[in-house]
Amino acid sequence: GFKCGIVGLPNVGKSTLFNALTQTAAAQAANYPFCTIEPNVGEVAVPEPRLQKLAEIAGSANVIPARMNFVDIAGLVKGASQGEGLGNQFLANIRETDAILYVLRCFEDGDITHVAGKIDPLADFETVETELMLADMDSLEKRRANLEKKAKSGDKDAKATIALVDLALAELQEGRPARNADVPEDMTKEWKMLQLLTSKPVMFVANVDEDSAGTGNAFSKVVEERAAQDGAACVVISAKIESELALLEDEERAEYLAEIGLEEPGLDRLIHVGYTLLDLQTYFTAGPKEARAWTIRKGWTAPKAAGVIHGDFERGFIRAETTAYDDYVSNGGESGAREAGKLRQEGKEYVVQDGDVMLFKFNV
Ligand code: GDP
Repeated sequence: GFKCGIVGLPNVGKSTLFNALTQTAAAQAANYPFCTIEPNVGEVAVPEPRLQKLAEIAGSANVIPARMNFVDIAGLVKGASQGEGLGNQFLANIRETDAILYVLRCFEDGDITHVAGKIDPLADFETVETELMLADMDSLEKRRANLEKKAKSGDKDAKATIALVDLALAELQEGRPARNADVPEDMTKEWKMLQLLTSKPVMFVANVDEDSAGTGNAFSKVVEERAAQDGAACVVISAKIESELALLEDEERAEYLAEIGLEEPGLDRLIHVGYTLLDLQTYFTAGPKEARAWTIRKGWTAPKAAGVIHGDFERGFIRAETTAYDDYVSNGGESGAREAGKLRQEGKEYVVQDGDVMLFKFNV
């Protein structure tokens, strides 16, 4: 599954956010309960109102949402790239993620120590990202020495990779993250293989005090401006409030949300922004046994999307009976859509669209 790393200085609210994410009713009500893969890794249900509707129409006995993984990555302090704090362990954890959520402390609380002594979310962000940039430079320089040797003995791929390494180093040496680099279209695969920490997509999570959950505050404004400048995603959230919301039943939650002036829980927003950030979309399967949402990347073809369910579906793919979500709903389900000519037979080249309801035909 797709994995988001929750990163930030100590005492900014990472664990509070992680616990809220993994304790939501949605996370727990799912058919197979929220599971802690490791103490700091949680699987979270992706909120998806369309799924319930599909289940009603198809008369599904079970409703299974798509899942997303969150990792609480503790232990970052200044000097982590030099092995301070949890150092290398911390960096290895980040390397495995698909995106980074920078949790930035935007709440004041005299009882909770801030490692730098004052609330300054942008300074915190710089501290954390600097460690990641230093770690990237370090790994690139080591790699470059090896690549040089290979290039000298005539390895053409090594030469091409050196060009990418230098592209990344040029950004980093100017104090900019590797994600700012202008990577040639035909080198994106090789670029990913460099496994840089600062080339991953990022989201800022401005963690505000309880009173500012609906409005944001002066600190979060600054964070939002910075995110806009960087072209990064940004979500204003009060982790404390979210951890309370997570424990409420639907009705109570709706009341509480209205009281604080929120349309939906911040966590839902966070997950949706995460989806956009990772270029993800949803397709559905729906039948009497279960209605289920599946996560794929935008642009995936039908066989590749089928492979998310089972490798055999991809290998033996013949075709996919496909109905757009709206057509499925307006025709009262599969047979209605078929009669109305809205159920399409799609082949290997078909690019799956968000909300497609699919049934795969395959050889075993
Ligand atoms: P971590 O070290 O980044 O994982 O931080 P924690 O999640 O453990 O939070 C550190 C402390 O800050 C805890 O006592 C939390 O209850 C508190 N905290 C987290 N979020 C908020 C918030 O939105 N408002 C307030 N007042 N306290 C918070």
